[in-house]
Amino acid sequence: MTEAVGYAAQSATAPLGPFTFERREPGPHDVQIEILYCGICHSDLHQARDEWHNTIYPVVPGHEIVGRVTKVGAHVSKFKEGDLAGVGCMVDSCRQCASCQEGLEQYCENGFVPTYNGEDKHSGGVTYGGYSNVIVVDEAFTLKVSEKLNPAAVAPLLCAGITTYSPLRHWRVGKGHKVGVVGLGGLGHMGIKIANAMGADVVLFTTSPGKREDALRLGAKDVVVSKNEEEMARHANSFDFILNTVAAPHNLDAYLSLLKRDGTMVLVGAPAEPHPSPNVFNLIMKRRSIAGSLIGGIEETQEMLDFCAEHGITSDIELIPIQQINEAYERMLKSDVKYRFVIDMASLKQEQ
Ligand code: NAP
Ligand code: ZN
Ligand code: ZN
Repeated sequence: MTEAVGYAAQSATAPLGPFTFERREPGPHDVQIEILYCGICHSDLHQARDEWHNTIYPVVPGHEIVGRVTKVGAHVSKFKEGDLAGVGCMVDSCRQCASCQEGLEQYCENGFVPTYNGEDKHSGGVTYGGYSNVIVVDEAFTLKVSEKLNPAAVAPLLCAGITTYSPLRHWRVGKGHKVGVVGLGGLGHMGIKIANAMGADVVLFTTSPGKREDALRLGAKDVVVSKNEEEMARHANSFDFILNTVAAPHNLDAYLSLLKRDGTMVLVGAPAEPHPSPNVFNLIMKRRSIAGSLIGGIEETQEMLDFCAEHGITSDIELIPIQQINEAYERMLKSDVKYRFVIDMASLKQEQ
């Protein structure tokens, strides 16, 4: 066993604070990683505060992990000591069901093992995530990270990157497509960059007029302030695809009416409370679809990391010491982050 130190929430209302726990010794197929950086996803906040009603305390969040391999098990073939490695939202799955066999572990019919707040087969306890100094993961769920990119800015790709890449690929977004991204946060800003690199014409929808310039710099062709009905109306019936990343309930009809015939809006935002139900005529009259999408499989996550390395895509980040985590959560709730907080794990040394 290795003693690990991290930050945990002890209850839905408690701020996160220092927490020590144990990581297993790497087994034959395991990789031990010294965590260098971990992104802060809005899902971390939802779960730290039990907004999805399934949190087991104490919870150590974090599923956008980049670090250096410090030890490998005897049968590990993909990694060696010193390699840069990444871990996303999953650390295992059943590997047998139809979804797992197709490389869609995120839809594992027996439930994948989440990086935190999941059942840890090895310890019989709960999995602990990336707001910590070390993690041990089966190499099958560990990603290769290019040395070419800034590793701190790569960390958010492990969730925000794949969650936007996967639906863009699944619905075959590409050249000539008009794509809307709703919400300019961690997911939204990756959505703009990736859809743009795939050749689509991207329009950002935002509730924050002050984000206009940033959105254009990130690759959007146009920016619409969603509260402005006139600006919205200009885009009626024109989108092939809309990626909705908003973390709060809102009126979906406003966006459905912007889709062309046969257009699709994919919801990736996972608010604690349901959206008001959309008007069915907004679907019927133009054969439009609403869909959802969950992160991405391991093979696709590697494909996304390689795509980003090839296109020089990383996240725009604000690097913070872990001691500022609670303040970062408050700022994330106010949509005040450009555009992902990443924890510099070197700051944990003072807790040891
Ligand atoms: P984030 O950085 O907080 O960004 C969310 C953005 O939504 C905000 O920046 C804001 O953009 C917009 N927004 C927030 N409150 C709003 C409101 N009341 N009305 C309208 N727009 C609002 O969060 P994130 O990390 O990108 O995550 C977004 C959501 O996706 C979360 O619910 C998270 O749990 C979920 N998620 C899902 C998956 C999946 O696999 N499906 C994976 C990761 C995360 P503007 O300022 O531009 O309006
Ligand atoms: Zn996430
Ligand atoms: Zn499975």
